[in-house]
Amino acid sequence: MSDDAVRRLSRRLLAWYDRNRRDLPWRARPGETRDPYRVWVSEIMLQQTTVAAVIPYFERFMARFPRVRDLAAADCDDVLKLWAGLGYYARARNLHACARAVVERHRGRFPDIVADLRALPGVGDYTAAAIAAIAFDRSVVAVDGNVERVVTRLFAITELLPRGKPTVRRAADSIAPARRAGDFAQALMDLGATVCAPKRPDCPRCPWRADCAAFARGDPEAFPVKAAKRQGRLRRGAAFVALRADGAVLLRTRPARGLLGGMSEVPTTAWTHDFNEQDASAAAPLLFASRPTQPARSAARGGNAIVWRRVTGAVTHVFTHFPLELVVYCARAPQTTAAPEGARWVARADLAGEALPTVMRKVLAHAGQDRRPEHDERREHDDRRKKSGFRR
Ligand code: SF4
Repeated sequence: MSDDAVRRLSRRLLAWYDRNRRDLPWRARPGETRDPYRVWVSEIMLQQTTVAAVIPYFERFMARFPRVRDLAAADCDDVLKLWAGLGYYARARNLHACARAVVERHRGRFPDIVADLRALPGVGDYTAAAIAAIAFDRSVVAVDGNVERVVTRLFAITELLPRGKPTVRRAADSIAPARRAGDFAQALMDLGATVCAPKRPDCPRCPWRADCAAFARGDPEAFPVKAAKRQGRLRRGAAFVALRADGAVLLRTRPARGLLGGMSEVPTTAWTHDFNEQDASAAAPLLFASRPTQPARSAARGGNAIVWRRVTGAVTHVFTHFPLELVVYCARAPQTTAAPEGARWVARADLAGEALPTVMRKVLAHAGQDRRPEHDERREHDDRRKKSGFRR
């Protein structure tokens, strides 16, 4: 593309942005100083998550940890609790580790070049470029899904993704302007989110219509060209919701590493491809008894039998790499029942403060124990958006 064409693209996009920019809580308004801490937290939260879902989490996060030093000084469990429901929990652990690194290595100030940002925990190519461009006006383009879509359409890139990502990256870099690079990066994100939509892009309103190769070809929806996704195999298992007489729920903490690491959960069986429901009714009694009594019947310490009831239906949840189906068993335990090793009783009033991932909130709702239906509806909505082609 010629220098004139690059200048024209930049001029038109920035003029469009000045009229149509989205007002978002992490964005500095014209004339305000940009805060790399807010840019960084928002970019981590926005990975695989919609703007609408992120806004309340971002505002709660900033109220609790207004500066990077506050986050670095926090307990990781408190960060996970504030993150509960947002999904992809490794992000929260990395956020905490990164805050500590910024304080320890950079005396609490974010570095302003891509290479140094990239060296921080949990900061990949995209996030480093986004912080460098948005917070420090560096001339780089942060290529997320929205930007990838716009750029592949602008240049009609037919290379199959993800293999063709370096081509998209080079094409994006070729149009990055030297001035107002931060506004350009955000404008590109906004164009992808509000005009150049995955389905039915609003080309008549697009400032790049005259230069867009896909528009000229008449088939913008054919881009980006993606390899077919392989969906993981279904895993199944059983979850056990034990309630004490005072309403407390039995929870445990997952291992720190791996899927949902460090998050809270009700006890479950392993999640496997060949789960057999009879295994679940055999596993339930083992929760409270050192050896099985009779199927679906546990002996609480103190001698009282605990009867497990299978809740009708099942809970389904889709993780990035596999769908999950959980059958749910419920039981009521006497007030004096001691928590089994590795588990703890959590008062109903304290459930909201637990780092419960969405799948566990679904399990509790299925068992009739979650009092936060609006949250679940919103998250379900968000899950559906992700599955149907997420757009932030
Ligand atoms: Fe996207 Fe249409 Fe604009 Fe091309 S003209 S960038 S396809 S909205």
